[in-house]
Amino acid sequence: MTTPANGKKIALVTGANKGIGYEIARGLAKNGMTVLLGCRDLGRAEAAAGRLAQDGHAAVPVLLDLTRPETIRAAAAQIESTHGRLDVLVNNAGIAVEWGSKPSNVDLALVKQVYETNVFGTMAVIQGMLPLLLRSEAGRIVNVSSSLGSLCLTGDPATPLSQFLVLGYNTSKTALNAVTVQFANELRDTPVKVNSVCPGYVATDLNGHSGPRTPEQGARVAIEMATIAADGPTGGYFNEDGRVPW
Ligand code: NAP
Repeated sequence: MTTPANGKKIALVTGANKGIGYEIARGLAKNGMTVLLGCRDLGRAEAAAGRLAQDGHAAVPVLLDLTRPETIRAAAAQIESTHGRLDVLVNNAGIAVEWGSKPSNVDLALVKQVYETNVFGTMAVIQGMLPLLLRSEAGRIVNVSSSLGSLCLTGDPATPLSQFLVLGYNTSKTALNAVTVQFANELRDTPVKVNSVCPGYVATDLNGHSGPRTPEQGARVAIEMATIAADGPTGGYFNEDGRVPW
């Protein structure tokens, strides 16, 4: 295992150019980590790095598109040659493209598109980065899920969440929670911890800025789970208030 040479942890945040991901990156940089901004457009990654630099934080733009495996391989190779390991992976990137449809009439091509990013893309990033995370003394994987993926909450007709009928997005986050449990179980005897988080309802491009929370508030729980100690949880699902029911 590799100890941080300069005492700085190395963190990769996907979808870090805007919204909650940008604030997660900012928060981890504030925590003293070297932050890699994994973005599908290098120009947007560089612009985000520029904004962070103005705020006094150095961050490294990295081309990473969840749906393009060659970019995941290249990002892993770049991280290996530069740092030799990865301490934190925050799988924040995600899409929602079917607002306004119902399960009965949504175009399944859109549902597949959502799964390609939110589920298969995230699985591919975890698989691609895991060899580097296993070289860390305390690897942490945080999957940014949603309470819309909670079967307990959305399955209760008394909750407002049961009114959000979004076939692809909601079920993709349920699947992502299952991905969290599968990797956590495989990695239980290693230092790597894997958890899902819900940022709450946050005003971002994803929802037309309809949420009441700020991206900074939404980022908090991901930052907390990215920095948990060795006696912290693995295979769990959390929001700012604690555990979320599956
Ligand atoms: P956002 O502002 O739309 O940001 C999404 C980010 O994901 C962008 O950086 C986007 O890049 C990136 N992305 C999308 N597809 C990608 C791909 N194939 N490869 C790499 N990056 C990709 O949305 P957000 O609200 O901050 O969402 C961040 C996460 O929080 C998502 O997983 C979302 O499901 C989750 N979440 C959000 C809320 C909420 O209320 N906002 C609630 C619960 C969970 P581009 O800029 O290039 O498009």
